[in-house]
Amino acid sequence: MKGSWRIAQIAGVRLYVHWTVLILSGWFALIQMRLDDAAADNVRRLAEGTGLALMVLVCLLLHEAAHAVVAWRHGIGTQEVTLLPLGGVARLEATPEEPTQELWIALAGPAVHLAIAGGIYGLLDDQAAAMPWSALTLTGGPFLLKLMAANLALGVLNLLPAMPLDGGRVLRAVLAFGTDYAQATRVAAGLGYVLCVASAALGLFSNPLWLFVSLAVLAGAKAEAHTVQTQAALGNARVRQAMRRRLRTVTEDETLADVVGEVVAGEQLDFPVVRDERLVGMLFQKDLLRKLSDEGRSVRVSEVLRRAPALRPTQDLADACQVLRELGCTSLPVVQDGHLVGLLTLKNMAQWTTLYAALHLGSGAVHDDDEQAEQLVSLMR
Ligand SMILES: [Zn+2]
Repeated sequence: MKGSWRIAQIAGVRLYVHWTVLILSGWFALIQMRLDDAAADNVRRLAEGTGLALMVLVCLLLHEAAHAVVAWRHGIGTQEVTLLPLGGVARLEATPEEPTQELWIALAGPAVHLAIAGGIYGLLDDQAAAMPWSALTLTGGPFLLKLMAANLALGVLNLLPAMPLDGGRVLRAVLAFGTDYAQATRVAAGLGYVLCVASAALGLFSNPLWLFVSLAVLAGAKAEAHTVQTQAALGNARVRQAMRRRLRTVTEDETLADVVGEVVAGEQLDFPVVRDERLVGMLFQKDLLRKLSDEGRSVRVSEVLRRAPALRPTQDLADACQVLRELGCTSLPVVQDGHLVGLLTLKNMAQWTTLYAALHLGSGAVHDDDEQAEQLVSLMR
C-alpha cells in the first residue's frame, strides 16, 4: 500500500506500517499530557503515553496475527500485513471461497481486542473494576484501564459494518449467503464511504479520534477497491488456469546463442533455468538483451540468470498479478512440490481475461489481446 514502510518479516509474512499509524501513536502519547499540570508530571505522562501507544501497537499486531492464523487454519496463507490505525489489511494468498471462511477470518481480529479487554478486566483490582463505565476513557485513570479502553474501542470500531473494516467483511460474508460476492462487496464498500464521511464529520465536530477512523477507512478502501478491480478483471481464477504449460526451459550451461532464436520467434520471452529438474532461477528477456548487446552470444545462462520467487498453481490470479506488478516482471515460474509446472506471463493473463470476458460477459465485451494486455498493464500500475 502506498505510504507504508516495510518493518519486518515474520514467518514469511511481510509486515508494513502505514504513516497514519505513526501519527496516531504520537497523538495517543501526547494526549496523555495535561496542559494545566506541572511539567515534571507531564514527562512521566508522556513516557506512560509512549508505553501505552507501543502496547496498543502490539495489540494491533496480535489482531492481524489472529486473521493470519485463522486464514491458515482454512488453508489460506498470508502474504503481507499493513498496519493501519484501526487494525490493518492482511493480504491473503487467496480469497476465501466460502462465506463462512471469510466470516471467521474477519471476526478473529476484533475478537482479539475484546478478549484482551476482558483479560485486563479480570486483572483489575476491586477498586478499578468498580469504576463506572463513564470513567473509561483513553486518557483518564490507571495504565491498565486506558489499555482496556483502547482495546474496547478497537474491538467495537472494527466491528462497524463497513468495508474495509472487519465488520464490513463480516457483513459481506453474511450478504454473500444470499446474493453474489460482487454485489455483497459493493454494498459493504458503499457503507465504507458512508462511514468515511460520517466519521470525518464526527472528527471535526466532536472527538478527533474519528478523523483517524476516516483516514484509516479511506486508506483501506482504496486498497480494497484496487483488489476488487483486479478481481473483476481476473475473476476468482487461479494461477494454474492461466499459466503456460508447454515451455522451453534452459540450463545454466547453455549460451545465449542457444536461446536467442526463441526470443526472435516470439515464442517465449522469459525462460525458467533448471538444474536436475529443479528451478534455480529465471532468464528474463531484458537481462538477455542487455547481456547480448554488451558481451555477445557466447555468454552462459549462469551469468545472466536471476533469482525469482515462484508462484503456486493454486494462488489467486489477481494476487499473482500483484506480485508481478511489485517485482516489475513480465513473467514468473509456477512451482508445485519443488517441481516447475508452468510459467505465468502477462500475455497469458491477457489471453485469459479475453476468454473470461467472452465466457462471462458476452462477446460484446471481448477485446483483442493487445487491448486486453494494455488494460491489464494499466490496472497493474
Ligand atoms: Zn482486522
